[in-house]
Amino acid sequence: MIKSMGKDDMSKEVELTCPTCQTFRKIKVPAAIFSQKKFGTIKIQVPPGAVCREHQFIAFVDTKGIVRGYERIDLLMAVPTEETKEADNKDKALTLKQLIRKYGLYGVFSLLHAKIFDYPAYIIKNKESEDTPIKLNEFLDKNLPEKYRAPTFKIKFLDETSYDKIKVKEKNALLIDSQQNILQTPWEDKLKFEESMLKKALEIIDDNEQLIIIQQDIAKFIKEAELAKTILEGVKEIYKEDLIDEMATQLKMPKINKYRLNLIKDFIIQRHSDKLAKRIKNKVQEFLNLL
Ligand SMILES: [Zn+2]
Repeated sequence: MIKSMGKDDMSKEVELTCPTCQTFRKIKVPAAIFSQKKFGTIKIQVPPGAVCREHQFIAFVDTKGIVRGYERIDLLMAVPTEETKEADNKDKALTLKQLIRKYGLYGVFSLLHAKIFDYPAYIIKNKESEDTPIKLNEFLDKNLPEKYRAPTFKIKFLDETSYDKIKVKEKNALLIDSQQNILQTPWEDKLKFEESMLKKALEIIDDNEQLIIIQQDIAKFIKEAELAKTILEGVKEIYKEDLIDEMATQLKMPKINKYRLNLIKDFIIQRHSDKLAKRIKNKVQEFLNLL
Protein backbone atom coordinates (compact mmCIF):
# COMPACT_ATOMS: atom_id res chain seq x y z
CA MET A 1 0.00 0.00 0.00
CA ILE A 2 2.92 2.33 0.58
CA LYS A 3 6.12 2.54 -1.43
CA SER A 4 8.10 5.56 -0.33
CA MET A 5 7.80 8.57 1.95
CA GLY A 6 8.62 11.18 -0.70
CA LYS A 7 6.89 14.53 -0.60
CA ASP A 8 4.15 13.57 -3.05
CA ASP A 9 3.73 10.11 -1.69
CA MET A 10 3.15 10.67 1.97
CA SER A 11 1.27 8.17 3.97
CA LYS A 12 -0.76 8.22 7.11
CA GLU A 13 -1.25 5.53 9.69
CA VAL A 14 -4.73 4.20 10.21
CA GLU A 15 -5.72 1.81 12.98
CA LEU A 16 -7.68 -1.13 11.66
CA THR A 17 -9.34 -4.01 13.47
CA CYS A 18 -10.30 -7.12 11.55
CA PRO A 19 -14.12 -7.37 11.83
CA THR A 20 -13.91 -11.17 11.94
CA CYS A 21 -11.07 -12.04 14.35
CA GLN A 22 -10.54 -8.62 15.99
CA THR A 23 -6.81 -8.52 15.22
CA PHE A 24 -5.60 -4.95 15.53
CA ARG A 25 -2.94 -3.36 13.37
CA LYS A 26 -1.79 0.03 12.19
CA ILE A 27 -1.45 0.20 8.44
CA LYS A 28 -0.17 2.93 6.16
CA VAL A 29 -2.55 4.53 3.72
CA PRO A 30 -1.61 7.15 1.08
CA ALA A 31 -2.18 10.65 2.46
CA ALA A 32 -3.91 11.72 -0.76
CA ILE A 33 -7.00 10.01 0.54
CA PHE A 34 -7.12 12.37 3.50
CA SER A 35 -6.20 15.62 1.80
CA GLN A 36 -9.25 15.46 -0.44
CA LYS A 37 -12.62 16.94 0.35
CA LYS A 38 -14.48 15.60 -2.57
CA PHE A 39 -15.37 12.07 -1.59
CA GLY A 40 -15.53 12.06 2.19
CA THR A 41 -15.49 8.49 3.38
CA ILE A 42 -13.54 6.11 1.18
CA LYS A 43 -13.68 2.33 1.08
CA ILE A 44 -10.25 0.80 1.46
CA GLN A 45 -9.79 -2.82 0.48
CA VAL A 46 -7.81 -4.69 3.08
CA PRO A 47 -6.40 -7.91 1.63
CA PRO A 48 -5.54 -11.01 3.68
CA GLY A 49 -2.17 -10.51 5.31
CA ALA A 50 -2.51 -6.74 5.76
CA VAL A 51 -4.17 -6.82 9.18
CA CYS A 52 -4.53 -10.51 9.96
CA ARG A 53 -3.49 -13.56 8.00
CA GLU A 54 -6.79 -14.96 6.89
CA HIS A 55 -9.44 -12.33 6.43
CA GLN A 56 -10.13 -9.64 3.96
CA PHE A 57 -12.54 -6.79 4.39
CA ILE A 58 -13.45 -3.24 3.46
CA ALA A 59 -12.71 -0.38 5.85
CA PHE A 60 -14.70 2.84 5.55
CA VAL A 61 -12.18 5.56 6.36
CA ASP A 62 -13.07 9.25 6.58
CA THR A 63 -10.82 12.17 5.68
CA LYS A 64 -9.54 12.39 9.27
CA GLY A 65 -8.31 8.80 9.07
CA ILE A 66 -11.02 7.55 11.40
CA VAL A 67 -12.63 4.23 10.59
CA ARG A 68 -16.40 4.64 10.22
CA GLY A 69 -17.19 1.00 9.68
CA TYR A 70 -16.21 -2.31 8.21
CA GLU A 71 -17.73 -4.73 5.79
CA ARG A 72 -16.62 -8.32 5.81
CA ILE A 73 -15.90 -10.22 2.65
CA ASP A 74 -16.82 -13.82 3.37
CA LEU A 75 -14.66 -15.26 0.70
CA LEU A 76 -11.44 -16.96 1.56
CA MET A 77 -9.13 -16.57 -1.33
CA ALA A 78 -5.48 -15.84 -1.67
CA VAL A 79 -5.18 -13.33 -4.48
CA PRO A 80 -2.97 -15.00 -7.08
CA THR A 81 0.28 -13.16 -7.69
CA GLU A 82 2.03 -15.24 -10.33
CA GLU A 83 1.52 -15.56 -14.12
CA THR A 84 1.96 -11.83 -14.74
CA LYS A 85 3.86 -12.37 -18.00
CA GLU A 86 1.06 -14.25 -19.58
CA ALA A 87 -1.47 -11.96 -18.00
CA ASP A 88 -0.18 -8.94 -19.83
CA ASN A 89 -0.30 -10.58 -23.22
CA LYS A 90 -2.20 -8.02 -25.28
CA ASP A 91 -4.03 -10.50 -27.47
CA LYS A 92 -5.41 -12.55 -24.66
CA ALA A 93 -8.73 -11.85 -23.03
CA LEU A 94 -8.75 -10.97 -19.36
CA THR A 95 -9.49 -13.64 -16.81
CA LEU A 96 -11.33 -13.37 -13.53
CA LYS A 97 -8.14 -13.97 -11.55
CA GLN A 98 -6.29 -11.19 -13.38
CA LEU A 99 -9.17 -8.85 -12.75
CA ILE A 100 -9.12 -9.63 -9.03
CA ARG A 101 -5.39 -9.01 -8.92
CA LYS A 102 -5.86 -5.63 -10.57
CA TYR A 103 -8.92 -4.31 -8.80
CA GLY A 104 -9.23 -6.42 -5.66
CA LEU A 105 -12.19 -8.66 -4.86
CA TYR A 106 -14.45 -5.83 -3.81
CA GLY A 107 -13.37 -3.87 -6.88
CA VAL A 108 -14.52 -6.77 -9.06
CA PHE A 109 -17.83 -7.07 -7.16
CA SER A 110 -18.34 -3.36 -7.78
CA LEU A 111 -17.43 -3.48 -11.47
CA LEU A 112 -19.77 -6.41 -12.03
CA HIS A 113 -22.54 -4.66 -10.12
CA ALA A 114 -22.07 -1.50 -12.18
CA LYS A 115 -22.21 -3.55 -15.37
CA ILE A 116 -25.31 -5.58 -14.50
CA PHE A 117 -27.23 -2.59 -13.15
CA ASP A 118 -25.97 -0.20 -15.79
CA TYR A 119 -24.23 2.37 -13.62
CA PRO A 120 -21.47 4.45 -15.18
CA ALA A 121 -18.07 3.51 -13.82
CA TYR A 122 -14.66 5.13 -13.84
CA ILE A 123 -11.26 3.75 -13.00
CA ILE A 124 -8.41 6.10 -12.29
CA LYS A 125 -5.38 4.60 -13.89
CA ASN A 126 -1.80 4.82 -12.93
CA LYS A 127 0.46 6.96 -15.11
CA GLU A 128 2.70 4.02 -15.96
CA SER A 129 -0.07 1.58 -16.73
CA GLU A 130 -0.95 0.86 -20.34
CA ASP A 131 -4.36 -0.46 -19.52
CA THR A 132 -7.19 0.25 -21.84
CA PRO A 133 -10.85 -0.03 -21.00
CA ILE A 134 -11.52 -2.17 -24.05
CA LYS A 135 -10.52 -5.51 -22.57
CA LEU A 136 -12.18 -4.76 -19.27
CA ASN A 137 -15.45 -3.85 -20.93
CA GLU A 138 -15.24 -6.92 -23.13
CA PHE A 139 -14.72 -9.08 -20.10
CA LEU A 140 -17.64 -7.59 -18.21
CA ASP A 141 -19.93 -7.60 -21.24
CA LYS A 142 -19.31 -11.28 -21.83
CA ASN A 143 -21.03 -12.04 -18.53
CA LEU A 144 -24.34 -10.58 -19.60
CA PRO A 145 -26.96 -11.85 -22.05
CA GLU A 146 -26.43 -10.26 -25.44
CA LYS A 147 -29.20 -7.71 -25.36
CA TYR A 148 -27.85 -6.19 -22.13
CA ARG A 149 -24.34 -5.69 -23.43
CA ALA A 150 -23.39 -2.09 -23.92
CA PRO A 151 -23.01 -0.76 -27.45
CA THR A 152 -20.64 1.89 -26.10
CA PHE A 153 -18.03 1.51 -23.41
CA LYS A 154 -19.62 2.21 -20.09
CA ILE A 155 -16.53 1.75 -17.96
CA LYS A 156 -14.04 4.49 -18.65
CA PHE A 157 -10.49 5.14 -17.53
CA LEU A 158 -9.31 8.46 -16.14
CA ASP A 159 -5.73 9.62 -15.94
CA GLU A 160 -4.39 9.92 -12.45
CA THR A 161 -4.73 13.34 -10.85
CA SER A 162 -5.36 14.69 -7.36
CA TYR A 163 -8.70 13.58 -5.98
CA ASP A 164 -10.14 17.07 -5.77
CA LYS A 165 -9.57 17.57 -9.50
CA ILE A 166 -11.39 14.46 -10.60
CA LYS A 167 -14.31 15.38 -12.80
CA VAL A 168 -17.01 12.90 -13.55
CA LYS A 169 -20.15 13.78 -15.50
CA GLU A 170 -22.59 11.54 -13.70
CA LYS A 171 -23.38 11.79 -10.00
CA ASN A 172 -24.33 8.12 -9.78
CA ALA A 173 -21.03 6.70 -10.94
CA LEU A 174 -18.72 4.11 -9.47
CA LEU A 175 -15.22 5.44 -8.98
CA ILE A 176 -12.15 3.33 -8.22
CA ASP A 177 -8.62 4.70 -7.86
CA SER A 178 -5.37 3.11 -9.02
CA GLN A 179 -4.71 1.73 -5.51
CA GLN A 180 -7.93 -0.32 -5.55
CA ASN A 181 -9.68 2.10 -3.20
CA ILE A 182 -13.34 2.72 -3.84
CA LEU A 183 -13.94 6.47 -3.84
CA GLN A 184 -17.62 6.45 -4.63
CA THR A 185 -20.42 3.95 -5.13
CA PRO A 186 -23.90 4.88 -6.34
CA TRP A 187 -25.46 2.13 -4.18
CA GLU A 188 -25.59 1.49 -0.47
CA ASP A 189 -26.36 -2.21 -0.29
CA LYS A 190 -23.77 -4.86 0.32
CA LEU A 191 -22.75 -6.68 -2.83
CA LYS A 192 -23.89 -10.11 -1.64
CA PHE A 193 -25.12 -11.24 -5.05
CA GLU A 194 -21.76 -10.59 -6.67
CA GLU A 195 -19.91 -12.08 -3.71
CA SER A 196 -21.82 -15.35 -3.84
CA MET A 197 -21.34 -15.57 -7.59
CA LEU A 198 -17.59 -15.14 -7.32
CA LYS A 199 -17.40 -17.52 -4.40
CA LYS A 200 -18.89 -20.26 -6.57
CA ALA A 201 -16.80 -19.36 -9.59
CA LEU A 202 -13.52 -19.31 -7.69
CA GLU A 203 -14.04 -22.85 -6.49
CA ILE A 204 -13.37 -23.83 -10.08
CA ILE A 205 -9.84 -23.72 -11.45
CA ASP A 206 -10.52 -23.36 -15.15
CA ASP A 207 -10.78 -19.73 -16.31
CA ASN A 208 -13.51 -20.36 -18.86
CA GLU A 209 -15.61 -22.47 -16.56
CA GLN A 210 -15.43 -19.71 -13.98
CA LEU A 211 -16.99 -17.38 -16.50
CA ILE A 212 -19.73 -19.86 -17.31
CA ILE A 213 -20.76 -19.96 -13.65
CA ILE A 214 -21.01 -16.17 -13.53
CA GLN A 215 -22.88 -16.03 -16.83
CA GLN A 216 -25.39 -18.59 -15.58
CA ASP A 217 -25.99 -16.78 -12.31
CA ILE A 218 -26.50 -13.45 -14.05
CA ALA A 219 -28.75 -15.02 -16.70
CA LYS A 220 -30.90 -16.57 -13.95
CA PHE A 221 -31.18 -13.23 -12.17
CA ILE A 222 -32.11 -11.41 -15.37
CA LYS A 223 -34.73 -14.03 -16.20
CA GLU A 224 -36.34 -13.37 -12.82
CA ALA A 225 -36.10 -9.60 -13.35
CA GLU A 226 -37.72 -9.85 -16.78
CA LEU A 227 -40.58 -11.92 -15.38
CA ALA A 228 -41.07 -9.37 -12.60
CA LYS A 229 -41.16 -6.65 -15.24
CA THR A 230 -43.81 -8.51 -17.25
CA ILE A 231 -45.95 -9.04 -14.15
CA LEU A 232 -45.63 -5.37 -13.20
CA GLU A 233 -46.67 -4.27 -16.68
CA GLY A 234 -49.96 -6.09 -16.21
CA VAL A 235 -50.95 -4.57 -12.83
CA LYS A 236 -51.52 -1.14 -11.33
CA GLU A 237 -49.74 -2.16 -8.18
CA ILE A 238 -48.76 -5.32 -6.34
CA TYR A 239 -47.55 -6.20 -2.87
CA LYS A 240 -43.99 -7.44 -2.53
CA GLU A 241 -45.21 -10.73 -1.09
CA ASP A 242 -47.69 -11.27 -3.91
CA LEU A 243 -45.05 -10.56 -6.53
CA ILE A 244 -42.72 -13.06 -4.90
CA ASP A 245 -45.51 -15.69 -4.85
CA GLU A 246 -46.44 -15.04 -8.46
CA MET A 247 -42.83 -15.33 -9.58
CA ALA A 248 -42.34 -18.59 -7.69
CA THR A 249 -45.46 -20.06 -9.32
CA GLN A 250 -44.53 -19.01 -12.84
CA LEU A 251 -40.89 -20.01 -12.57
CA LYS A 252 -41.72 -23.19 -10.61
CA MET A 253 -39.01 -22.21 -8.18
CA PRO A 254 -38.74 -21.61 -4.44
CA LYS A 255 -39.69 -18.09 -3.37
CA ILE A 256 -36.97 -15.49 -3.67
CA ASN A 257 -36.05 -13.47 -0.58
CA LYS A 258 -36.57 -9.73 -0.05
CA TYR A 259 -32.93 -8.96 -0.76
CA ARG A 260 -33.25 -10.57 -4.17
CA LEU A 261 -36.50 -8.71 -4.82
CA ASN A 262 -34.81 -5.42 -3.99
CA LEU A 263 -32.07 -6.25 -6.46
CA ILE A 264 -34.71 -6.95 -9.09
CA LYS A 265 -36.36 -3.64 -8.28
CA ASP A 266 -33.02 -1.85 -8.75
CA PHE A 267 -32.53 -3.63 -12.04
CA ILE A 268 -35.94 -2.48 -13.28
CA ILE A 269 -35.27 1.10 -12.14
CA GLN A 270 -31.86 1.22 -13.77
CA ARG A 271 -32.59 -0.71 -16.93
CA HIS A 272 -36.26 -0.04 -17.61
CA SER A 273 -38.38 2.39 -15.67
CA ASP A 274 -38.68 4.01 -12.31
CA LYS A 275 -42.49 4.13 -12.59
CA LEU A 276 -42.76 0.41 -13.21
CA ALA A 277 -40.68 -0.37 -10.13
CA LYS A 278 -42.91 1.89 -8.01
CA ARG A 279 -45.82 -0.45 -8.61
CA ILE A 280 -44.26 -2.77 -6.06
CA LYS A 281 -45.96 -1.95 -2.75
CA ASN A 282 -44.92 -2.58 0.78
CA LYS A 283 -47.65 -3.83 3.14
CA VAL A 284 -46.09 -2.45 6.31
CA GLN A 285 -45.57 0.96 4.77
CA GLU A 286 -49.15 1.19 3.61
CA PHE A 287 -50.39 0.21 7.04
CA LEU A 288 -48.28 2.95 8.64
CA ASN A 289 -49.69 5.50 6.23
CA LEU A 290 -53.19 4.70 7.51
CA LEU A 291 -52.34 5.55 11.10
ZN1 LIG B 1 -9.03 -11.53 10.81
